[in-house]
Amino acid sequence: MSLAKYESAREQLPVVPIGGPVLAVPGSRWNTIRWRLILGNLLAICLPLLALVGVTGALLWHFYLTVMTDSLRARAAIIADLAAPVLDPSTPDNPIFMDRLVAQWEANSSTLVTLVDGSGLVEGGPPSWMGKKLDPAYRPGMLKALQDGMPDSGIWEPRHFNYEESLYYNLPVSRDGRVVGVVQTALSLAKVRTSLSEIVGLLLVAVLMYAALVVGLTLWFGISITSPIERLISGVRRLAAGDLGERFNEQGTAEIRVLGSTLNAMATRLGQLESLRRQYVSDVSHDLRTPLGSIRALADTVLEHGDEDPELRHRYLTRIIAQTERLSRLASQLVELSVVEGGQVLGSVSPVDVEAVVSVALQEIAPRAMDAHIELRLLSNGEPVLVIGDRDRLVRALLNLLDNAIRYTRPGGQIDISVEAEPGKARIQVSDNGCGIPAADLEHIFDRFYRVEKSRSVQTGGAGLGLAIVRRIVESYGGRIEVESRLQEGTRFTVVLPRAGEN
Ligand code: ADP
Repeated sequence: MSLAKYESAREQLPVVPIGGPVLAVPGSRWNTIRWRLILGNLLAICLPLLALVGVTGALLWHFYLTVMTDSLRARAAIIADLAAPVLDPSTPDNPIFMDRLVAQWEANSSTLVTLVDGSGLVEGGPPSWMGKKLDPAYRPGMLKALQDGMPDSGIWEPRHFNYEESLYYNLPVSRDGRVVGVVQTALSLAKVRTSLSEIVGLLLVAVLMYAALVVGLTLWFGISITSPIERLISGVRRLAAGDLGERFNEQGTAEIRVLGSTLNAMATRLGQLESLRRQYVSDVSHDLRTPLGSIRALADTVLEHGDEDPELRHRYLTRIIAQTERLSRLASQLVELSVVEGGQVLGSVSPVDVEAVVSVALQEIAPRAMDAHIELRLLSNGEPVLVIGDRDRLVRALLNLLDNAIRYTRPGGQIDISVEAEPGKARIQVSDNGCGIPAADLEHIFDRFYRVEKSRSVQTGGAGLGLAIVRRIVESYGGRIEVESRLQEGTRFTVVLPRAGEN
C-alpha cells in the first residue's frame, strides 16, 4: 500500500465517540435491559392479579344475585300464601285487604311488592295503580308469569323507570291448581353495586401498590445489573478510541466479572500488539536506512573518484549491488512474514513427500553452495515420508535454513541434510560446520529481527527474519523447530513435522 493510500485508509477509520450518554444508540431509550425487566415482571405478576380481581368481582356479583333471588322467592312465597285465598274469585270476599298487607311488607322489608289478580288487575302495589290494569312496561314479566304459570326473575334496567336498578322475582299464585294471580317482589341492587365496587376498588388499589413495588424493586435490580455494564461500555469506548491503557473493573455479577477480566486481557493484548507494531516499524525502518545510507555513501565516492580510480569504482559498484540485493531480500522477507503471520494454516494443506521438498530446495540452493565452495550432502534412505502441509511453504522454510547454513559457513565447509521417518513424525535436520551461535542467543534466534551480532549481519546481509518465518510455517502445520549449536563448530536445526495419516 502506498503512503497516500495508507493515509486515506486511516482517515476512513470509524470515529468512535467518547463521553456523552452511554446508550447513545437511536431507539434505545426503551429497548434496554432495565425496561425489559420491568415490563416482563409487570406482565408476569400484575396481569394475572388483574385477571384475578376481575374474576373475583364477577363471582361476587353472581353470588349476591343468587342469594337475593332466593330471598325474593321466599318473600314472594309468603305473600302468595296469604294472598291466594283473597285472589281466588270462587271464594267469598275476604276481609283482609291486600293493599294494606303489601304496604306493610314494603315498609318492613324494603322489598317492593306488586300483586295482580288473575285478570291482571293490581291488588297491591303503588297506590296510584290500585284497581287498575297492570301496565306491563313497568312490571316486566308479571303478565307473562300469569299466562305461563311459571316463576321467573330478572333485573330491571333503571333506564326505563325512575326506580333504581333492581332484582325482581315473579311468582304465580296458585289455588287448587289454578293460577289466580302473580306476586312480584323486587330489591334495589344499588347497595350491592356499591359494596362490590368498593371491594373491587380495594383489590385494584392493592394490585397497583404491588405493581409500584414490583417496578421499584425491578428498577433497583436492573440498575445493579446495568450500571456495571454501562461502566464497561464507557471503558470499551475509551479503548476503541485508542486509550490502550484502559483497564476494567472486575466487580459485579459472575458474568460481568468474566466480561471485565476478558476485556482486560483483550486490552493488555492490544497494548502488546501496539508496542510490537511500533517495534516492528522501527526495526524495519532501521533495516532500510542502513543499506540506503551505505549505498548513498558508496555512490558519492564513485561520483567523486570513480573516473580517476576504475578499480575503486568497480569495487564500490559491486558493494552497491550487494546492498540493493540485501534491500530486495529484506522486502521479500517482509512480505513473506506478513503472509505467514496471518495466523491461519498456510497455503493448500495436503500430504506432501518430504523427499520431494528436500530435493526441490537442494536444486535451488546448489548453485549458491557451489559459488561459496560448500559441500551439500543428503542423508536419506530414499523412502517417501508424507507430512501434512503446503509444498511451496515447506520448500521456503527449508531454503531459509539452507541459506543461513551457507551464509554462516566458511568456504570449504559442509552442510548435511537428513530426513528420518519416526512413528507419527518426520524429522528433517540441517547441520553445518560453520561459525555456530553463542548459547545466550539460542533462545532468541527465532524472534523477528533478532540477529546474533550486528557486525555479522552487516557482512551477511540478514535482517533477522528468516528463522521467524521458518518457525511460523512449521508451527502452522503442527510441527516444531529446535536448534543446537557450538561456537566455531557448527549448528544443527531440527524440524519435526507430524506425518500424514498418523496422529
Ligand atoms: P538472518 O536473515 O539475519 O540470517 P535469521 O532469522 O535467519 O536472520 O537468523 C537469525 C540469526 O541466527 C542470524 O543473525 C544468525 O546470526 C543466526 N543463525 C541462523 N542460522 C545460523 C547458522 N546456520 N549458523 C550460525 N548462525 C546462524
